[in-house]
Amino acid sequence: MGKKDPEREEQKAQERAQKRRAQIEKHLVECPHCGEKVLDHMTKCPKCGGVLVPRGYTPMDPKTERTLKIVGWVIGIAAVIVFIVLTIVYNQ
Ligand SMILES: [Zn+2]
Repeated sequence: MGKKDPEREEQKAQERAQKRRAQIEKHLVECPHCGEKVLDHMTKCPKCGGVLVPRGYTPMDPKTERTLKIVGWVIGIAAVIVFIVLTIVYNQ
């Protein structure tokens, strides 16, 4: 024990590569515009530039979107206020 078997290592590496390939293939879909294999999360075909609908994509609820926007603004303004306060405090 303790000694590495190069053949076993090679086999393991091949298994890993195959698993990775299978995972990628699972996410491959055909572009409806040109038939090129593209990944299912892509929004644009890299070959023909056609618009793709990513798998599992659901348009955001407008209410949720508005809430997120407001939260983003509040966080941004809070960060600016903290920055200004810290600047004033450190300059004293
Ligand atoms: Zn395409």
